[in-house]
This record gives sequence, structure tokens and C-alpha cells, in this order.
Amino acid sequence: MNKKTEMAWDWFSPIASLKGVGDKVAEKLAKLQIVTIGDLLLHCPFRYEDRSHLTPIQDILADTVCVVQGTIIHSKVENLRKKRCVITLKDEQGSVMQVVFFHYLAQKKWENGTVIRCFGQAKRHGTHMQMVHPEVEFINPSNSVMPAQLTAVYPTVAGLSQAFFRKTIANLLTTYRQRFQNQSDLFAKNLGPAIEMHTWVEALNTVHLPENNADIEALVSKKHPAYARLISEELYAHHASLGKLRQQTKAQVACALPPNEAIHQTFVNHLPFALTPAQSAVWQEISSDLNQQTPMMRLVQGDVGCGKTIVAALAALQTIANHSQVAIMAPTEILAEQHLAHFTEWFAPLGYRCELLVSKLKSKEKRSIKENITLGLTSVIIGTHALFQEDIQFQKVGLVIIDEQHRFGVHQRLALQAKGLSAKIPSHPHQLIMTATPIPRTLAMSQYSHLDISVIDSLPPGRQPITTLTISQSRRDEMIERLRHVCQKGQQIYWVCALIEESEILTCQAAEVAALMLQESLPECRVGLVHGRMEPEEKEAIMQAFYRNEIAILVATTVIEVGVNVPNATLMVIENPERFGLAQLHQLRGRVGRGKEASYCILLYGALSKMAKERLRILRDNIDGFIIAEADLALRGPGEILGTRQTGAIAFKVADLQRDQDLLEKISAYADDLPLPPHFIDRLIAKWLGFNDYAKA
Ligand code: ADP
Ligand code: MG
Repeated sequence: MNKKTEMAWDWFSPIASLKGVGDKVAEKLAKLQIVTIGDLLLHCPFRYEDRSHLTPIQDILADTVCVVQGTIIHSKVENLRKKRCVITLKDEQGSVMQVVFFHYLAQKKWENGTVIRCFGQAKRHGTHMQMVHPEVEFINPSNSVMPAQLTAVYPTVAGLSQAFFRKTIANLLTTYRQRFQNQSDLFAKNLGPAIEMHTWVEALNTVHLPENNADIEALVSKKHPAYARLISEELYAHHASLGKLRQQTKAQVACALPPNEAIHQTFVNHLPFALTPAQSAVWQEISSDLNQQTPMMRLVQGDVGCGKTIVAALAALQTIANHSQVAIMAPTEILAEQHLAHFTEWFAPLGYRCELLVSKLKSKEKRSIKENITLGLTSVIIGTHALFQEDIQFQKVGLVIIDEQHRFGVHQRLALQAKGLSAKIPSHPHQLIMTATPIPRTLAMSQYSHLDISVIDSLPPGRQPITTLTISQSRRDEMIERLRHVCQKGQQIYWVCALIEESEILTCQAAEVAALMLQESLPECRVGLVHGRMEPEEKEAIMQAFYRNEIAILVATTVIEVGVNVPNATLMVIENPERFGLAQLHQLRGRVGRGKEASYCILLYGALSKMAKERLRILRDNIDGFIIAEADLALRGPGEILGTRQTGAIAFKVADLQRDQDLLEKISAYADDLPLPPHFIDRLIAKWLGFNDYAKA
């Protein structure tokens, strides 16, 4: 029999191993991401109430929250419009008040002479004070004490009471204290001098059961030394996990891919432009990384349009010139196809075959593409995330390139890397990751500390700056005239429709309506439409027509967000820009301003809140993606910027990269020099990252 005993649990035990937690409760807890006992201990209150002293009824101020204790001297059920139960309470000073419940409660409980303690908001009701639906506790007057701690209020879901959390966590903590009180806390001992923090056991105690004189404000804002202990450890655990991943990778042996000057020169001589100094500098770093026997792990960051693709192509060329294959992963099929077009144009004349492997292919086509890959006939393989799900055997993968990294999590990247090991000639591939999302420094420190980072920090010459305008939707007619004017000049236009409340169907409908409206108003211009619910072939045909300038106005949902490159497009209209993140708007806007003509981005707003106005102003007044990203981070938090809702890349339990920047900086500064034993570090990582730690994938 599976007996649940008091002492049997440890940090990693499933929550259902606790007494009093059955399957139903465990299911509800899972909704709060509480799966293990450790998760429950790290379920932090969002508020604390001071219930440590009684207020005499005569001293109650109307509309304040207080604790009152008294003896029931009368109770009745009134049958007015609605049934209600009215109880009269008299306290030690002899004053009376009423307690009211708007549903029938077994009257037996409210016998005269019973002493109850009520916590709630007092309201004036005629000449009396009254509390409606307070929290009630039945008191045994001979041994009742007031709590010496503040009362924690937890985030919860329907069916889990505050009392459940308080009682279960307090019980756990009693055992926990007994077990660990006297163990020395290596982490606090080592970091304590740098960061003011509690020891682990003390910290958990304070978070859940703070003394009633504790600094509530510091607790709620998570600036209390108790929270500093938890947050520091969590940040450290992530840092250490990424560090292990880096160490593991650096310990691996990759094929050194030396530069091939002749092939490189032939290629560069055929380019219609020279590399910018920023591109050259980054290219030098990559080229020398590839020539090493340790796998490159490099993130190339550069604002939209800075020319990352050509740098990736040079890396690919150095690889294939060494008779190794290159796998390129793009976030969308449209982008994968665009890459295929470019790489084929560049590499086919040199005799290298590039192929696309995406899920929509017929199985026969797929089979022959895979065969060519295994035989080593194809040098460059381009795909979407389907690429790492496919059972392909490469001949020899020298380099993995991941475009627009924020769409993929660390784990997905590692899965693609593993293809190198299962190749006919196995090796650890080099990795090049490219992102147009400028990554604010704090995020770089926490999420990318395992990568080398290069920045392409200038745009190719001759670019016209993009002028950004904010215009109200009520001026649609004016907009149409603008569009007509742009079309007359033979230039092209993007019209971007916003997401509607997470509903893809509605979003696509709105895009359809917009396309019809535009076609009606501008019969002389050809309007095309792409959205997420269209068949891939249909989408591709429209995109191709847009590339060939057969379509003048492309109405799109955010499928065009990343990478699409049509230099002849000089105007972008974004509907309801208030529904997008700033970094995302900046990305979208980067689709124009790629040619020689002056370009415009028009933010066609609906009703704007103060915050939305501020955000659009930041976008309008700045062209530097880094400044915009910092502002976006400050306004909206890291999840939105890294797009974690799609990838689950970061999931902090307590830490918040925005709020805890100072701790993050300290942890980054000290982390690598802490004298902590390896098994201790492993345990910390397991505690915070569970089975999702980065190095294990
Ligand atoms: P992103 O960094 O956003 O991926 P792309 O690689 O798509 O940017 O490049 C944007 C455009 O800039 C492309 O049309 C590309 O041909 C062009 N480009 C890239 N490098 C240069 C350069 N050094 N000089 C002129 N144009 C360039
Ligand atoms: Mg790109």
C-alpha cells in the first residue's frame, strides 16, 4: 500500500506524496505549475496581511480591513429578497457589530456563546459596523493566541483555498526546518558578503511566515533579503546550467574548417556590393572560429536589414569548401524559401547544390532529398523546425546555422546539433545563431551567457532612414491617397493586420476584409493577401508574385515579421500597432527602407491608452533597435521580447530579469568563482530547472 507519511518527502517528491493531497488537488496544483514539493515551497505569496492584533469594535474605522474577535450573542436567518444569515457579535469591551453571510449557513455553528475571530473589511451599516463574508475562525477562548506572523496570500486557482496553502506549506516548513536548520548554507556563505541575503531555510520561512514586524513592502516587491536568497540562487542555477552546456560543447571535438581563399574570393568578387566594416569584422571572427577544433557557438546579433544573411553565406561557403554540409534552420517556410532562393543563386554557379526540406513536401520528394543529403550530394539543407524532427542522416554536418534564434529554444537547437553526431561521418558541428532581436544586456547575460556574441552594428550604406508616422484610423481616406501615390511610382507596400485576441480565425478574417477594402478603393493596384490559414503553396505563390513586383500591396498578418526582403517596398502600414510589442514593430518596420528610395512606416492606431501612446512614441523617435528593446523590456518584461510564449525558453520561478537586474549583475560577476562543489551545483540546477536543464538536452 502506498502510505503517505510525514517525513518521507524530499524536494523532488511529487506533490501527491503529501498527506492530504489527492489526485484532484494535485491536478489543480499542476495548473499553478506546482508538481513537486519543492515547487510548492517556492510558490511565493503575492501579498501579506497583518492579522496579528485585534481591533476593538469601538475603534474600527469604516472601510478598513481588521481582525475582530467576539462572542455571538444573536443569530438569525433573514428571508428578504435573498436568504441571508445575520450574526451579532459582542467583544470584550462590550461593543457589538454584525457579521453577514448572503447564503444559508448551518445555523447550528452560530450558537450563542461561541467565540469567533473575523478578518475582513468593516463597513458602516446604520449605527453599527458590519462585516460581509469575513474569513472566520472559531476560537477556544482558553487557549487562543494571536498569530505572531503575517498571513500570506497566495496566487491560486478555483478550488484551492488560502487555508490549504497556508496549512500545507506551514507543515512542510516545520519538517524542513527540523531537517535542515543546522546544515550550513554554502551558497549564502559564499555570496553573503556580496549580496545581503538570508540563509535558505530562513529565507523560505520568511517568505511564507514572516514575523509580524517584517517589512511587508520589501517582501511584496521581492526586495527583501529572504527573496534575495531565492532569486540569487535561481539566477545562479540558470547561469551554472548554461555554463555546463558551454563547457560540454567546448570539450567536444569539431572538424576544423580552414578558410579557402580562392573560393572565398571568387564568391566575394561576384557580389554586387562590398561587405561593410561591421560585416567584415564579424565575418573574421566566424572564419577563425570555424578553423578551430572546438565547436563554434556564436550568436550574431544585428538590427533588421544589417545584412546577416551574407555573413551566414560566407560561413556556409567556408564549410562546404571543406566538403562538409551545412544545415540552415529558419523560423517560417516563407523565410526558408527565401534563403533557398538566395543560397541557390550564390552557390549553384560554384557547383554546390542547395535544397529545401519542409513538411509540406510529398513523401516521394522528401525521400529523394534525404537520399541526396545522406549521399553528400546536397551541400546546403534549408528547413524549418521540421528539420530536426525528420529522420535524416547527413553525410557530414560541419555547420548548423539558426536564423532568428528567438523563435527556437536552447533544446531545439541542441536537437539539430545532434544530427551531426548521427551523420555517416559523425562530428560535433559548429553553430552559428543569428538574431535581429536586439538583446538587452541583462537578457544577454542570463540567456546567452553560453554563447560568444558578435554584433553587426551598422547598416549597409545608402539606406534611406525610415520615417515613422502615427496616424489615427479615422484618417483612412488620407491613407488610401498615400497608397495610390506610392503605387503610381511603381513602389510596393506592406499592409500589416494585427492579431485579434489570440484568435487566428478572426485575425485572418480581418486580413481578408482589409484586402477587399483596399482592392475596392485602389482598383488600379493589385492587392495580394497572405495569412496563417492559407495553404503553403498559395502563400508561396503570393510571396513570389510580390518578389516579382506583380503585386503592389501585400496585405499580411505577422507571417512577414521576419526576414522577408523586398527592397522595392517603401511603405508599410501597420494596423492597430498598439497590439504589437515594440521589438516586433521594429522588426516589421525593418521590411522597408531596404532600397534606395525614402521609406515610410505608418502606425494606423485605434484608441490609445497612455502607455500605448508612450510606446508608439518610443518607436517613432528611435531607429536603434537596442534602445527600443531596452524600452520594451522595461515596459513589458522579458517574456514578450524573447517570444517565450512560443518556445518556453526562459521560465523563472521567482526571479524577474527586469526587477532583479542588480542581482543578475552580481551573480554574473561572482558566479564563476564561487568555490562550490560540483555535486552541490548539480543539485542547485536540478532544484530550479528540474529535468529541463540546458546541459542535459
Ligand atoms: P538581415 O540582417 O535583416 O537578415 P539581410 O541579410 O536580409 O538582412 O540583408 C538585407 C539587404 O541588405 C539585402 O538585400 C542584402 O542584399 C543587402 N546587403 C547586405 N549586405 C550589404 C552590403 N554590405 N552592402 C549593400 N547591401 C547589402
Ligand atoms: Mg534575416
